[in-house]
Amino acid sequence: MIYADHAATTPLSPKAYEAMSEFFTKNYGNASQPYGFAKKAKSAIEKSRAIIAECINAHYPEEILFTSCGTESNNWILHTFLGKEIITSSIEHHAILNFCNHAEKIGTKVIYLPVSNKGEILTETLKKIEIESGSLVSVMMVNNEVGTVQSVANLAEIAHEKNCLYHTDAVQAMGHLHIDVNKIFVDYLSASAHKFNGPKGIGFLYVKKGSPIKPFIYGGSQEYGLRAGTENVAFIVAMAIALKENIESLDETNKHLKKLEIELIENLNKYGIKYVRNGVNQIPGNLSLSFPGVNGEGLLHSLDLMGVCISTGSACDSKRTQMSHVLKAMDIKEDLAYGTIRISLGKDNTKEEIGQIANAINKIVAKSRN
Ligand code: PLP
Repeated sequence: MIYADHAATTPLSPKAYEAMSEFFTKNYGNASQPYGFAKKAKSAIEKSRAIIAECINAHYPEEILFTSCGTESNNWILHTFLGKEIITSSIEHHAILNFCNHAEKIGTKVIYLPVSNKGEILTETLKKIEIESGSLVSVMMVNNEVGTVQSVANLAEIAHEKNCLYHTDAVQAMGHLHIDVNKIFVDYLSASAHKFNGPKGIGFLYVKKGSPIKPFIYGGSQEYGLRAGTENVAFIVAMAIALKENIESLDETNKHLKKLEIELIENLNKYGIKYVRNGVNQIPGNLSLSFPGVNGEGLLHSLDLMGVCISTGSACDSKRTQMSHVLKAMDIKEDLAYGTIRISLGKDNTKEEIGQIANAINKIVAKSRN
């Protein structure tokens, strides 16, 4: 099997897996309990919070709040701004868009920024619109379908000039780009462990000290009384280890991914396959490719039969046959949009695998065009 769908999820780091196991069977105490045994769990949580804070250069560990996933982190921050204005983009993940839909239904004004046909949210558009002071601007860092890295720092500066706060959904960026929250001026940031070789079902929300945040889950006093529920110590520990590990080897990984990406493009060109690459300024290893006259979903299933895992768009969308909202917003023609697949490479992919992927695509595309 060749796995080339790392934007959907990544394998758990063996180091993270090893570190988390003791919190299931040995140090299983409830972190809220006062006795010595439970303090091991509590201190593991706090150590992990500090590691994550350091990874993104947050000033205080308390600025990291643990959640169950990227979706929850995104929902939480939007929930905080219900009743105010929310400015977002038309190419966000559904974890943002579907909450915005709900927010609109209950009376919150939402403005959707358009994108260029290359998948960029242009700073000029944000500059031009009128926004109420105290609103939230939420624009993602890396798009999950086309991989385009957005100008987060510029967008955040404009948001601040307008007296607004800025959130970025960094789920596809965390562990894949160097992120310094101070250099990109964000007030809030969402991340999810399973996208950077951590476990599924754990994430975090960065909240810059002093920025408004409303409690999201009511109950016990965990997470400073903002998000109740007994902490998943094992997953928190694994998330911190996976993130640190990814960041430490990031430059090397990205060099490898860039090489593989070039290799794939060269292979496709060598076969003379007609395709269009979507997006611009993509994260290394992410390729959104449209094959005119070919059905993307058919291509996915044929590749699956040949042992290659890729996607047609985001994982959450791949069960639906409707046109991707991202490609639609980018004004990509229908024929191309329906012929689109996403290949997202990971650090364990090899040059040989790239050759096999290109070969498989060539065979399927040639057959379907005949
Ligand atoms: N935001 C983006 C950009 C994503 O790509 C995803 C998952 O694909 C999410 C949010 C949701 O994250 P999670 O799967 O942790 O809920």
